[in-house]
Amino acid sequence: RIAPVIDELGERFEAAGEQLALVGGPVRDAMLGRLQNDLDFTTSAHPDVTERLLKGWADAVWDLGRDFGTIGARKGEWQIEITTYRSEVYDATSRKPDVEYGDSLVGDLRRRDFTVNSMALTVPGRVLEDPYGGILDLAGRVLRTPGTPEESFSDDPLRMMRAARFSAQLGFEVAPEVVAAMTAMADRITIISAERVRDELVKLVLAPSPRRGLALLVETGLASYVLPELPALALERDEHHRHKDVYEHTLIVLEQSIELEQQRGHAPDFVSRFAALMHDVGKPRTRKFQDDGTVTFHHHDVVGAKLTRKRMKELRFSNDEIDAVADLVELHLRFHGYGAGEWTDSAVRRYVRDAGDQLERLHILTRADCTTRNKRKADRLRRTYDDLEARIARLSEEEELASIRPDLDGVQIMEILGI
Ligand code: ATP
Ligand code: MG
Repeated sequence: RIAPVIDELGERFEAAGEQLALVGGPVRDAMLGRLQNDLDFTTSAHPDVTERLLKGWADAVWDLGRDFGTIGARKGEWQIEITTYRSEVYDATSRKPDVEYGDSLVGDLRRRDFTVNSMALTVPGRVLEDPYGGILDLAGRVLRTPGTPEESFSDDPLRMMRAARFSAQLGFEVAPEVVAAMTAMADRITIISAERVRDELVKLVLAPSPRRGLALLVETGLASYVLPELPALALERDEHHRHKDVYEHTLIVLEQSIELEQQRGHAPDFVSRFAALMHDVGKPRTRKFQDDGTVTFHHHDVVGAKLTRKRMKELRFSNDEIDAVADLVELHLRFHGYGAGEWTDSAVRRYVRDAGDQLERLHILTRADCTTRNKRKADRLRRTYDDLEARIARLSEEEELASIRPDLDGVQIMEILGI
């Protein structure tokens, strides 16, 4: 399906004396059998030439940032991005690499993040260009950098975040020398803009199995800079091992949320998943050992919502996203008062009203949080929540009926309709 399209485009560039190659993500994903509609190309042509060659062929053409040499286009179902070869000149103190056009495909592949992303398919003809052994690393399911990881990460520290993101998305291992470089250089992530870090974190959290990527962030120390609330959850165990490991519990709640999200037919939802990740971040701050030997976390929901806001603000999330996640963190404990018999209809209505348009997310978070090592207790909590959800459904059905039921009786209706 894709071959005629990319060959056709390749012929246009060839006729103009330019080189064109499919590159990075789509080459990797095609080999993994998970190609989407995004086709990224790299070319010898400068942006104005690319734009001219695309016009008259693509259905639509637009500028994606001429400064970076990228032109976008759509052809049928395909979303196309074509970028001029680059060879980047780095200034160690700058947040973004200065871009300079390069003159060769191999030079362009050399400055890419991982070998599995450093493969290209030249068109027309579709010849694989793989100077850094990407195909072997793809087969071995491992992330490795084309040059030394130290050099790569000092050129662009964001690549450390990308390693965690791709390991979560693809389920690949990260090569030991890459993990070692990440560990040694974690603090360099601080020169990267919050927006770029956030975008990688979002992709990581939306991946099929975020645990892998999150564990890597924690192990390498990157999390201490980008999401310090997460490693803080690994509370030091008290000598009697009375409370569970909140960090491990959090990863389980996240995994259960993802399972529920799928079971209930929702698309991957960042707000829901990030709320799972943050739901207990108030615990380390509020933990108190009582004289009777118990541990309490007084108002950790409120404290957690506050910490969540602060972190998300630092990561430059929008106010809407911040409110949505923080509200879920604050509401997730509300359910624990249910089942004791004191939940009147108006308490149930208040629960629904406070959840607002996030009721479904609250259902998912609260259910996912019904985990404890005691399986019988977990089952009981789940049944109690079934009960609450059923009551909510019944109440809203009654309200809906009441709102559509007319004030007329059957005889009056027949009169009006002339029946
Ligand atoms: P997806 O689009 O599915 O998230 P992708 O591999 O296309 O995955 P992008 O972030 O879109 O990832 O980047 C496109 C390509 O550009 C990558 O495959 C990689 O070759 C290169 N690339 C992107 N960002 C960097 C970076 N910070 N350093 C080096 N190379 C990068
Ligand atoms: Mg891409």
